[in-house]
Amino acid sequence: MDIQFLGTGAGQPSKARNVSSLALKLLDEINEVWLFDCGEGTQNRILETTIRPRKVSKIFITHLHGDHIFGLPGFLSSRAFQANEEQTDLDIYGPQGIKSFVLTSLRVSGSRLPYRIHFHEFDQDSLGKILETDKFTVYAEELDHTIFCVGYRVMQKDLEGTLDAERLKAAGVPFGPLFGKIKNGQDVVLEDGTKIKAADYISAPRPGKIITILGDTRKTNASVRLAVNADVLVHESTYGKGDEKIARNHGHSTNMQAAQVAAEAGAKRLLLNHISARFLSKDISQLKKDAATVFENVHVVKDLEEVEI
Ligand SMILES: [Zn+2]
Repeated sequence: MDIQFLGTGAGQPSKARNVSSLALKLLDEINEVWLFDCGEGTQNRILETTIRPRKVSKIFITHLHGDHIFGLPGFLSSRAFQANEEQTDLDIYGPQGIKSFVLTSLRVSGSRLPYRIHFHEFDQDSLGKILETDKFTVYAEELDHTIFCVGYRVMQKDLEGTLDAERLKAAGVPFGPLFGKIKNGQDVVLEDGTKIKAADYISAPRPGKIITILGDTRKTNASVRLAVNADVLVHESTYGKGDEKIARNHGHSTNMQAAQVAAEAGAKRLLLNHISARFLSKDISQLKKDAATVFENVHVVKDLEEVEI
């Protein structure tokens, strides 16, 4: 499981950073890629990665500001130009209004898609669990921005323990139906009377990963709730230390506030994005240094950077 950052800038693109988008690559888990936000130019960034647009099965939008959604019509249209490839449906989750934005853009530009889009819109009253599959559950909660904006908590379901086939063979268990019984937790007795306890050969279930991806926001308790025990928290850092007041006025956070959220939530790792073009590279190292005084495992991400979870 990896996150690849497609755009890490705030508000408008700069030479180094495109506007917001990231890909949660779940290729090993479910052979899908989930996009979070889709700022203008996201499809160009995708061209610089190994991501195949057809693999993008779900898009989650945090809010309707242009730097988070203007890439949608272009991406959706290009996704249709994969001749010879099977056209698979796509789900879009986002605040009310996203459906009308997408359908209007496609209609007035005469764009026809050879696949179906299923829209899942929500408002303040319909948040909570927004998606459950056999392997993942996704929750959304309202943040505190200048317009309705949400954060997402993606929870992988616990992974079953695996059977240690090598040790079973060494213990004299013949490969075949007995393996299946032991895998199902059943103890067995071999022909020579040896008792095999299933529990000794199955590893403990592994807890699933928790990934928290927030939209633009002031510091709020909702962020902490979404990030409780997260393996990774992706948090905006539009402003730096000392700019708390201006951050509040514009509906954003500083690096220090993001670090406080990560610390309060007991997250394991903090990735800062939504970085203003005002910051030069020395400012970026300072952003990290300052945040690390509150939460040590912090990193300021770059466009196209890939982070393993
Ligand atoms: Zn915004």
